Amino acid sequence: MTSSPSAPRPMFSRIVDAIAPSTPFVGPEELERRQRRAFLVRVGANESAFGISAAARDAISKVLSLVSHYGDPENFDLRSELARQNGVAIDNVLIGSGIDDLFALLVHALIDPGAAVVTSLGSYPTFNYFVVGYGGSLHKVPYQGDLVDLKRLAHEAKSVDARLVYLANPDNPTGTFHGRDDVRQFVELIPKGCVLVLDEAYLDFVPRDDLIPIDCENSTVVRLRTFSKAHGMAGMRIGYALASHDLIAGFNKVRIQFGVNRLAQIGALASLRDPAFVAQVVDEVSHGRADYERIGRELGVRTLESHTNFVSFDFESSERAETVLTELLRRGVFVRSGAPPFDRLVRVTVGTKAERATFEPIFRSVVNDS
Ligand SMILES: *Cc1c(COP(=O)(O)O)cnc(C)c1O
Repeated sequence: MTSSPSAPRPMFSRIVDAIAPSTPFVGPEELERRQRRAFLVRVGANESAFGISAAARDAISKVLSLVSHYGDPENFDLRSELARQNGVAIDNVLIGSGIDDLFALLVHALIDPGAAVVTSLGSYPTFNYFVVGYGGSLHKVPYQGDLVDLKRLAHEAKSVDARLVYLANPDNPTGTFHGRDDVRQFVELIPKGCVLVLDEAYLDFVPRDDLIPIDCENSTVVRLRTFSKAHGMAGMRIGYALASHDLIAGFNKVRIQFGVNRLAQIGALASLRDPAFVAQVVDEVSHGRADYERIGRELGVRTLESHTNFVSFDFESSERAETVLTELLRRGVFVRSGAPPFDRLVRVTVGTKAERATFEPIFRSVVNDS
């Protein structure tokens, strides 16, 4: 319904008023409503196909009736466990309702209107959405092939005097990864006063030793992590940041006090204490990736080297990718593409063995026909 012509026009802030309406992601539920049918396989949002840890399920079930109580606004138990596991102080840990929520908080706390922010052209779009929403000025650096161009990213941060620079490592939608030596050199090149937003949504899928060591107090790196991927809790909405005491103290001034739900706090804590579960997910995912890589080879479609729970198929042109994507959606397979230049990719999340068996013949037939 639109409001009547005589109704007063709402008075938005200048920043919001200037933004064109946009939705960074159209969810699978909306696509199902539009198509008037449910998807056969949901492999488009990098959600885990492997459920949650039994320990997490038990812990959540036990406290279900306690949702009449607010969660602990200090998130104390979860922060303590994260501090212990990561070898940092509790004051270096901040909890949010997912990385996306933490993006909003970071941008709110660090970006004045017009401040420069640097990211890669085609990388994870939700970060950009918040930068625009707070009036930041986005500078996008092209990739070098499938890889984020770290040298150019650091160079751009310096030349535009950026307040924030964003790196997803492993990256989405490419799935590619820079090892610790590359990232260490990159961190050294970042100008003083610029904060590195290091999005580690997929950290569980790479060996810990391949990540740069955690050094909260001597750096302006904010590491963002989530329970949405390997831990299988996307719908719970919970994630965390590791950063210096000073940065966390600043974020604490403006965060939503009761924004994290009580079940998410309890479920995340139980899942953290069940590393065998995540190890099993990571193992299953690596089999699934190998399956997709084989399918790509057999069909003559290149796959990007993924260090995540998805594989991107490269159709070399946005037109062909779009044809494949549209036809997959029509045949009941939920997948996604990327933002340009990665609109030439079709990104497929690793499903269970049964989901992969449903996906494979449909994908083969769609690719062969397009
Ligand atoms: C999935 C994903 C996120 C979102 O994580 P939430 O904790 O669910 O908000 C953030 N960054 C990247 C790169 C992702 O792929």
